[in-house]
Amino acid sequence: SSQESLMSLSSDEGQGGSDLDNINVVVRVRPLASHEVGKKDIQAVQFPGEGQIMVDDQINGHSRVYTFNVVFEPEASQEDVFEFSGLKRLVDMALDGFACTVLAYGQTGAGKTYTLTGPQGEGAGISHEPGVINLAFSYLYEGIKQRKSEDFVIHASYLEIYNEHVLDLLNPSPKHLPVRWSKDKGFYAENLFAVECEDEGDLQGVLEEGKKNRQVRSHNMNEHSSRSHTLLVLTLTAETRDLDDPHTFIRRQGKLSLVDLAGSEKTKKTNSKGETLVEANNINKSLLVLGNCISALADPRKRSGHIPYRDSCLTKLLAESLGGGGMALMIACVSPSRTNAPETISTLRYASRAKRIKTKPIVRMDPREQLIMSLKREVKLLRMENTYL
Ligand code: ADP
Ligand code: MG
Repeated sequence: SSQESLMSLSSDEGQGGSDLDNINVVVRVRPLASHEVGKKDIQAVQFPGEGQIMVDDQINGHSRVYTFNVVFEPEASQEDVFEFSGLKRLVDMALDGFACTVLAYGQTGAGKTYTLTGPQGEGAGISHEPGVINLAFSYLYEGIKQRKSEDFVIHASYLEIYNEHVLDLLNPSPKHLPVRWSKDKGFYAENLFAVECEDEGDLQGVLEEGKKNRQVRSHNMNEHSSRSHTLLVLTLTAETRDLDDPHTFIRRQGKLSLVDLAGSEKTKKTNSKGETLVEANNINKSLLVLGNCISALADPRKRSGHIPYRDSCLTKLLAESLGGGGMALMIACVSPSRTNAPETISTLRYASRAKRIKTKPIVRMDPREQLIMSLKREVKLLRMENTYL
């Protein structure tokens, strides 16, 4: 009904209600790799119940059960993860004007990149196992087709944070982009390319281009792993012709940030010499800051106070989505093997901290348009009152 559609645009009612969990945390367990099976590594995780994962803790000598929104077992397909992780709802909300974020977290080799963009090497777009980002692209343009009363313009940018420096993945140049702050944009990377994408093919092209440019360094746990965080950010601008006044357009902007975080493993597991040590420290630092922001947001006594977004590039660029502007989904990726059990436990702990975040989604509109909207709503409510009288 018209009342519902008005409510979804309001900043303080409707979808912003308190019964909504604004961060979903799901876990995906990858299958044992063939080299692990070969080394007779055994599976240290079990699935005692829905949304539950149990890890054999060799160090502390007991098993612990962790509970999440969903736990995807090794047999789950890419489509299953897309379908049941809540990602579809985030795409719908981004189309409605909210800022939404997907974070893939976990140790190197746990399946973050596979989950987001499919197997490495072959083009993810043509691969038979496209990642949830590829599936989200199709879903996004389907959604746009169905929203006939609105005109959408989509822009994509793709950046990498490496050693606290921001690099543009769509404009390969060794120059770092400064992160700045402005009143209407919040934190942003200056001079970042934003490519207009008219269809799904354009978006897949942007993804491929960025992946090609992604800085990949050798790593003794996984040759192809990256020590950087990558952020693919889609800006969805919608223009709606006002039904009552065809000369007025209402513009709003949603955002979908898709983040492949750097490996969460401890520094000592990496080959920590020279430059490599600096890299590892910065990665851990930004994941630490992200964790600090997340736990501050999860604590009702702290969340209205100081949230340490400014302590890392990653959290600056995610501040808007995490701190009350939108919805988030964390996909914690873990290995099932006993060798990796300590890292798996550390990932599940980190992910548990995120579960308690409650944010209040707000639609991004400029103040003038917001005023027009609220006046319109009053007029409509008055008209409705008249109808019922
Ligand atoms: P990360 O990005 O977390 O470092 P990757 O996504 O590169 O890890 O995954 C490591 C390896 O495991 C890759 O060879 C990948 O293809 C494989 N892999 C990861 N998850 C799955 C899965 N769910 N099913 C099959 N293979 C997977
Ligand atoms: Mg990766």
